[in-house]
Amino acid sequence: MADFRTHLSAAVGGGALLAFAGWQSGFWTPGEALPLGALTAFGGILPDIDADHSHAVRLIFNTMAVLAVVVGVLLLHAQLEPGALLMVCGGLYVGVRLVLSPVFKRFSVHRGIWHSLLAAVLCGLATSVAGYQWLGQPAMLAWAQGLALLLGYCIHLLLDEIYSVDLTGARLKRSFGTALKLFDYRAPGNSLLMLLIAMSLLPWLPPFASLQGLMLQGSTFWR
Ligand SMILES: [Zn+2]
Repeated sequence: MADFRTHLSAAVGGGALLAFAGWQSGFWTPGEALPLGALTAFGGILPDIDADHSHAVRLIFNTMAVLAVVVGVLLLHAQLEPGALLMVCGGLYVGVRLVLSPVFKRFSVHRGIWHSLLAAVLCGLATSVAGYQWLGQPAMLAWAQGLALLLGYCIHLLLDEIYSVDLTGARLKRSFGTALKLFDYRAPGNSLLMLLIAMSLLPWLPPFASLQGLMLQGSTFWR
Protein backbone atom coordinates (compact mmCIF):
# COMPACT_ATOMS: atom_id res chain seq x y z
CA MET A 1 0.00 0.00 0.00
CA ALA A 2 1.08 3.53 -0.61
CA ASP A 3 2.41 5.31 2.44
CA PHE A 4 1.21 8.56 3.92
CA ARG A 5 3.77 10.75 2.21
CA THR A 6 2.98 9.27 -1.22
CA HIS A 7 -0.73 9.82 -0.66
CA LEU A 8 -0.26 13.35 0.56
CA SER A 9 2.00 14.41 -2.30
CA ALA A 10 -0.23 12.84 -4.95
CA ALA A 11 -3.32 14.47 -3.45
CA VAL A 12 -1.69 17.88 -3.07
CA GLY A 13 -0.41 17.61 -6.64
CA GLY A 14 -3.87 16.65 -7.92
CA GLY A 15 -5.47 19.47 -5.94
CA ALA A 16 -3.00 22.06 -7.19
CA LEU A 17 -3.54 20.93 -10.78
CA LEU A 18 -7.32 21.09 -10.44
CA ALA A 19 -7.26 24.49 -8.76
CA PHE A 20 -4.85 25.93 -11.30
CA ALA A 21 -6.49 24.47 -14.41
CA GLY A 22 -9.95 25.60 -13.29
CA TRP A 23 -8.69 29.08 -12.50
CA GLN A 24 -6.89 29.38 -15.84
CA SER A 25 -9.99 28.36 -17.75
CA GLY A 26 -12.20 30.74 -15.82
CA PHE A 27 -14.20 28.22 -13.77
CA TRP A 28 -13.29 29.83 -10.48
CA THR A 29 -11.42 32.75 -8.95
CA PRO A 30 -8.11 32.21 -7.11
CA GLY A 31 -10.07 32.64 -3.85
CA GLU A 32 -12.39 29.81 -4.82
CA ALA A 33 -9.59 27.69 -6.27
CA LEU A 34 -7.67 27.46 -3.00
CA PRO A 35 -10.39 25.66 -1.00
CA LEU A 36 -10.99 23.35 -3.98
CA GLY A 37 -7.33 22.35 -4.06
CA ALA A 38 -7.35 21.87 -0.29
CA LEU A 39 -10.46 19.67 -0.54
CA THR A 40 -8.77 17.44 -3.13
CA ALA A 41 -5.73 17.16 -0.87
CA PHE A 42 -7.95 16.33 2.13
CA GLY A 43 -9.87 13.75 0.07
CA GLY A 44 -6.55 12.15 -0.80
CA ILE A 45 -5.84 11.21 2.80
CA LEU A 46 -9.42 10.77 3.99
CA PRO A 47 -9.81 7.01 3.20
CA ASP A 48 -7.04 6.20 5.67
CA ILE A 49 -9.32 7.49 8.40
CA ASP A 50 -9.76 3.77 9.13
CA ALA A 51 -6.05 3.15 9.72
CA ASP A 52 -5.40 3.14 13.46
CA HIS A 53 -2.33 5.03 14.68
CA SER A 54 -1.34 6.71 11.47
CA HIS A 55 -0.29 10.22 10.53
CA ALA A 56 -3.34 10.26 8.34
CA VAL A 57 -5.80 9.71 11.19
CA ARG A 58 -4.28 12.43 13.31
CA LEU A 59 -4.24 14.90 10.43
CA ILE A 60 -7.79 14.02 9.37
CA PHE A 61 -9.29 14.48 12.82
CA ASN A 62 -7.28 17.66 13.47
CA THR A 63 -8.56 19.07 10.18
CA MET A 64 -12.13 18.02 10.95
CA ALA A 65 -11.95 19.57 14.42
CA VAL A 66 -10.74 22.87 12.96
CA LEU A 67 -13.44 22.72 10.27
CA ALA A 68 -16.10 22.04 12.94
CA VAL A 69 -14.94 25.15 14.81
CA VAL A 70 -15.00 27.27 11.64
CA VAL A 71 -18.51 26.08 10.74
CA GLY A 72 -19.61 26.62 14.36
CA VAL A 73 -18.37 30.22 14.34
CA LEU A 74 -19.95 30.95 10.94
CA LEU A 75 -23.31 29.53 11.94
CA LEU A 76 -23.58 30.76 15.51
CA HIS A 77 -21.69 34.04 15.78
CA ALA A 78 -24.84 36.07 15.23
CA GLN A 79 -26.86 34.22 17.86
CA LEU A 80 -24.37 33.74 20.70
CA GLU A 81 -22.44 35.99 23.07
CA PRO A 82 -18.65 35.74 22.57
CA GLY A 83 -18.26 33.75 25.81
CA ALA A 84 -20.91 31.20 24.87
CA LEU A 85 -19.53 30.97 21.34
CA LEU A 86 -16.08 30.19 22.72
CA MET A 87 -17.54 27.45 24.92
CA VAL A 88 -19.51 25.87 22.06
CA CYS A 89 -16.55 25.95 19.68
CA GLY A 90 -14.22 24.56 22.34
CA GLY A 91 -16.78 21.79 22.86
CA LEU A 92 -16.87 21.07 19.13
CA TYR A 93 -13.10 20.82 18.95
CA VAL A 94 -12.82 18.54 21.97
CA GLY A 95 -15.79 16.51 20.75
CA VAL A 96 -14.18 15.74 17.40
CA ARG A 97 -10.68 15.14 18.78
CA LEU A 98 -11.44 13.26 21.97
CA VAL A 99 -14.79 11.60 21.34
CA LEU A 100 -15.31 11.06 17.61
CA SER A 101 -11.72 9.98 16.90
CA PRO A 102 -11.53 7.12 19.50
CA VAL A 103 -15.08 5.96 18.65
CA PHE A 104 -14.07 5.82 15.01
CA LYS A 105 -10.90 3.93 15.82
CA ARG A 106 -12.89 1.38 17.78
CA PHE A 107 -15.41 0.63 15.04
CA SER A 108 -13.52 0.84 11.78
CA VAL A 109 -11.48 -1.81 9.99
CA HIS A 110 -8.54 -0.77 7.81
CA ARG A 111 -9.20 -1.18 4.13
CA GLY A 112 -12.81 -1.84 5.02
CA ILE A 113 -15.83 0.22 4.14
CA TRP A 114 -13.94 3.54 3.90
CA HIS A 115 -11.82 2.19 1.07
CA SER A 116 -14.67 2.03 -1.42
CA LEU A 117 -16.24 4.13 -4.15
CA LEU A 118 -19.46 4.22 -2.13
CA ALA A 119 -17.61 5.97 0.70
CA ALA A 120 -16.00 8.31 -1.83
CA VAL A 121 -19.43 9.31 -3.17
CA LEU A 122 -20.85 9.69 0.34
CA CYS A 123 -18.01 12.02 1.39
CA GLY A 124 -18.33 14.01 -1.84
CA LEU A 125 -22.09 14.44 -1.37
CA ALA A 126 -21.62 15.42 2.29
CA THR A 127 -19.10 18.07 1.21
CA SER A 128 -21.52 19.56 -1.32
CA VAL A 129 -24.35 19.56 1.24
CA ALA A 130 -22.17 21.22 3.89
CA GLY A 131 -20.92 23.86 1.47
CA TYR A 132 -24.37 24.63 0.07
CA GLN A 133 -26.49 24.43 3.22
CA TRP A 134 -24.15 25.56 6.00
CA LEU A 135 -21.56 27.75 4.34
CA GLY A 136 -23.86 29.41 1.82
CA GLN A 137 -21.77 28.50 -1.22
CA PRO A 138 -23.33 29.05 -4.67
CA ALA A 139 -24.79 25.80 -6.04
CA MET A 140 -22.25 25.23 -8.80
CA LEU A 141 -19.31 25.90 -6.51
CA ALA A 142 -20.74 23.57 -3.86
CA TRP A 143 -20.92 20.81 -6.48
CA ALA A 144 -17.34 21.56 -7.51
CA GLN A 145 -16.26 21.27 -3.87
CA GLY A 146 -17.88 17.85 -3.54
CA LEU A 147 -16.29 16.73 -6.81
CA ALA A 148 -12.88 18.02 -5.68
CA LEU A 149 -13.07 15.87 -2.54
CA LEU A 150 -14.29 12.92 -4.61
CA LEU A 151 -11.32 13.36 -6.97
CA GLY A 152 -8.83 13.28 -4.09
CA TYR A 153 -10.57 10.24 -2.59
CA CYS A 154 -10.38 8.36 -5.91
CA ILE A 155 -6.69 9.25 -6.31
CA HIS A 156 -6.09 7.62 -2.92
CA LEU A 157 -7.99 4.43 -3.77
CA LEU A 158 -6.23 4.18 -7.12
CA LEU A 159 -2.80 4.65 -5.51
CA ASP A 160 -3.54 1.93 -2.96
CA GLU A 161 -4.40 -0.44 -5.81
CA ILE A 162 -1.36 0.51 -7.88
CA TYR A 163 0.86 -0.18 -4.91
CA SER A 164 -0.68 -3.59 -4.39
CA VAL A 165 0.63 -4.68 -7.78
CA ASP A 166 4.18 -5.89 -7.50
CA LEU A 167 5.58 -4.15 -10.54
CA THR A 168 8.85 -6.06 -10.72
CA GLY A 169 7.36 -9.52 -10.76
CA ALA A 170 3.94 -8.43 -12.04
CA ARG A 171 2.38 -10.43 -9.24
CA LEU A 172 -0.63 -9.25 -7.28
CA LYS A 173 -0.25 -8.74 -3.57
CA ARG A 174 -2.92 -9.99 -1.25
CA SER A 175 -4.21 -6.47 -0.74
CA PHE A 176 -5.17 -6.19 -4.41
CA GLY A 177 -8.82 -5.32 -4.83
CA THR A 178 -9.25 -4.12 -1.26
CA ALA A 179 -9.03 -0.41 -1.97
CA LEU A 180 -10.81 0.37 -5.21
CA LYS A 181 -14.08 -1.46 -4.72
CA LEU A 182 -17.67 -0.37 -5.21
CA PHE A 183 -18.62 -1.13 -1.61
CA ASP A 184 -17.40 -3.37 1.22
CA TYR A 185 -18.52 -6.84 0.11
CA ARG A 186 -17.51 -8.36 3.44
CA ALA A 187 -19.80 -6.04 5.36
CA PRO A 188 -23.03 -5.81 3.33
CA GLY A 189 -25.02 -4.49 6.32
CA ASN A 190 -22.68 -1.56 6.89
CA SER A 191 -22.51 -0.89 3.16
CA LEU A 192 -26.30 -0.76 2.98
CA LEU A 193 -26.34 1.66 5.92
CA MET A 194 -23.77 3.82 4.14
CA LEU A 195 -25.90 3.80 0.98
CA LEU A 196 -28.97 4.85 3.00
CA ILE A 197 -27.03 7.69 4.62
CA ALA A 198 -25.84 8.84 1.18
CA MET A 199 -29.41 8.73 -0.13
CA SER A 200 -30.72 10.65 2.88
CA LEU A 201 -28.48 13.55 1.81
CA LEU A 202 -30.27 13.89 -1.54
CA PRO A 203 -32.92 16.43 -0.43
CA TRP A 204 -30.20 18.78 0.87
CA LEU A 205 -27.98 18.72 -2.19
CA PRO A 206 -27.63 21.80 -4.39
CA PRO A 207 -29.94 21.64 -7.47
CA PHE A 208 -28.87 19.00 -10.00
CA ALA A 209 -29.25 21.55 -12.80
CA SER A 210 -26.15 23.30 -11.44
CA LEU A 211 -24.21 20.03 -11.55
CA GLN A 212 -25.29 19.61 -15.15
CA GLY A 213 -24.15 23.15 -15.87
CA LEU A 214 -20.78 22.44 -14.31
CA MET A 215 -20.38 19.24 -16.33
CA LEU A 216 -21.34 21.05 -19.51
CA GLN A 217 -18.75 23.76 -18.86
CA GLY A 218 -16.22 21.07 -18.10
CA SER A 219 -16.90 19.18 -21.32
CA THR A 220 -16.46 22.30 -23.45
CA PHE A 221 -13.13 22.84 -21.70
CA TRP A 222 -11.82 19.43 -22.79
CA ARG A 223 -12.85 19.88 -26.38
ZN1 LIG B 1 -5.49 3.71 1.91
